[in-house]
This record gives sequence, C-alpha cells and structure tokens, in this order.
Amino acid sequence: MVKAIALLSGGLDSTLAIKVVLEQGIEVEALNFITLFCRCTAKGSTCLASQKAAQTLGIGLKVMNISEEFLSVVKHPKYGYGKNVNPCLDCRILMFKKGCEYMNQDGASFIVTGEVLGERPMSQRREAMQIIERESGLQGLILRPLSAKLLPLTVPEKKGWITRERMLAITGRSRKPQIKLASDYGINDYPCPAGGCLLTDPGFALRMKDLMKNKPDFSLNDVHLLKLGRHFRLTPLAKVVVGRNEEENGKILSLVKEGDTVLRVKNVPGPLALARGEVDHQAILQSAIITAKYSKAKFLPGVEVEYQVIPMPAKEILVSPSMVGDELGLLRIN
Ligand code: SF4
Repeated sequence: MVKAIALLSGGLDSTLAIKVVLEQGIEVEALNFITLFCRCTAKGSTCLASQKAAQTLGIGLKVMNISEEFLSVVKHPKYGYGKNVNPCLDCRILMFKKGCEYMNQDGASFIVTGEVLGERPMSQRREAMQIIERESGLQGLILRPLSAKLLPLTVPEKKGWITRERMLAITGRSRKPQIKLASDYGINDYPCPAGGCLLTDPGFALRMKDLMKNKPDFSLNDVHLLKLGRHFRLTPLAKVVVGRNEEENGKILSLVKEGDTVLRVKNVPGPLALARGEVDHQAILQSAIITAKYSKAKFLPGVEVEYQVIPMPAKEILVSPSMVGDELGLLRIN
C-alpha cells in the first residue's frame, strides 16, 4: 500500500485533507510539529488538537519538537515576517524539510497538507507554495487535496495513486466549503488552530521585538521568559521581569541562570522578579523599586528588598516605592 506523511495541525483543513486521501486507500501517518511558540501544547510536549484529530481519523501520529531549529528561523527569516513577528514562509519551509526527512526515513512516498490556495496571505499564495516546494526539496511531492484541482499535477496523481477528479478546488479565505465537507464526513468537533502561534499575537510580538532588538543572540530560555510576568526594559542591555502570581513566580524561578539577579521584598507578600543582562547598581535599584511597587509594601516609605546575583550570596537594598511616581511604568514593554 502507498504511504503518505500528512502534516497535521489538528485544525479543520489538515483533518479534511487527510480524510480525502484516506478515502482513496492511501495509508497515512500524521506528523505534528510543536515549537516553544505554540499556545495549545500540554506541558510543551503534545499538541492536544492534533492528538484528537489523529484519533478521530484512526491514524498514527508522530509529534516532533522543532523549537531549537525554529529559533534560528525566527531570528533570520529569509522571506521576512508577516504582520507581527511570524516568519510563516520560512517556518513552513522548515516544517516541509522535516517532513521530507521523515518521509524518506519512513518509506513514505509523498506529503499531504491541508493548505488551501489563497487562504493565508503569506504562506498559501501560489508563488509561496512554489517556493516552499523548491526550498524543501519536495517538487511534485506535496499533495494539497483541498485545492489540488487548481494546482499543477503532482507525482502521486501522475503515478495513479491519487485520482485527481476526487480532489477538491477550494480557494480563498471563506471556510464555508470546508465546513460543508466536514459535515458530509460527519466531522463536527474540530478546534480552531488560528491564533495557536504566539508569534502572531500583537502583545507578544512587542516583547519579541524588544528582545530581538536588544539581544539578537537570544536563547530558548529568553523566549520562555517572555511568556511570563510583566517586562520592563531598564537599559538596552538590562531588563527585569516581575511575576504576576504564585504560579508565575515559580516558573520564573525555574528559568533563573547564573548571572541573573533574583529579587523579593523581605517579610511582605510580593512578587519574585528576575533582572537579566548587564545589571549594575542603578538597574538593581530600579528593579527593587519595581518589585516593591507590585508588593503589599508599595505604600511604605522604606522597604527592604533582598536581591541575589546568582550564585553569589543574597544582599539587601532599602527602597522607597511610595516616593517614586509612574516614571518606572514608562519602562514597561507591554
Ligand atoms: S503562524 Fe506561526 S506556526 Fe503558523 S506558519 Fe506562521 S510562524 Fe509558523
């Protein structure tokens, strides 16, 4: 039996594309990519939507974490960014390259995706699809069942594994044809994966842009930190992050590295803060005031804040949060 690897996001399009191919007697294994920018992963290791979709379709699922490689793509995308900091075209090229490697290892013959011609402005234009095929080394080997009738003939069609007449000719951003098809197939419980990528979120994009500008060699740890707390840019080389609740305080603590400065208000309930970069005395003072301002001691004239430059012993600094106005708020990134 001919086997295909399907890129499965767990959304409706990829689920339908696989269904169409299964109906033609092709064996399909699903491949799902997760990155540190996915919003819908359980503990960062599994995409629940793709798991559910694979179960509904009755096919195997391989989940691949490509965070490390994806970070290089985010830093230097050959084809640029979309509306926020989403390098969609380069991201898709990476995913198809990975898909190609997996296809070859797995003895599969082609790739299936749920892409729809004209549905997404950056990566689903005709020209973008050609670039993706060329750059991923998959010319003729990507079958897009939902739009296949509008696209050039692929190898699986030429070889007779797939009947072109049974492919579809969906185009554009309207979801109506897909919703109708889902209802024909009895698929009625599907998540909406749009918005599943943090890089398309305008608020997160502000934090990312600040990081990319001030620390171009940023790490996975820096990005994980962007997902937590309130962020303040102290100088081009220093920032502080303040937890918003107990859970965030714990997560921020788990990301602390040597050279970071951890701050807490002494003897009063308050947040944990992490200052990172070239943190001099002035930056420690500002971080301590910000930390105190988010604690129960914010109205006191004198507050002791404990700070520790990891792994040095902890020290204390006395600050007066009530004497400082909103000027520190201006340092807030978002
Ligand atoms: S939205 Fe995010 S995950 Fe989706 S293609 Fe763009 S960069 Fe990649």
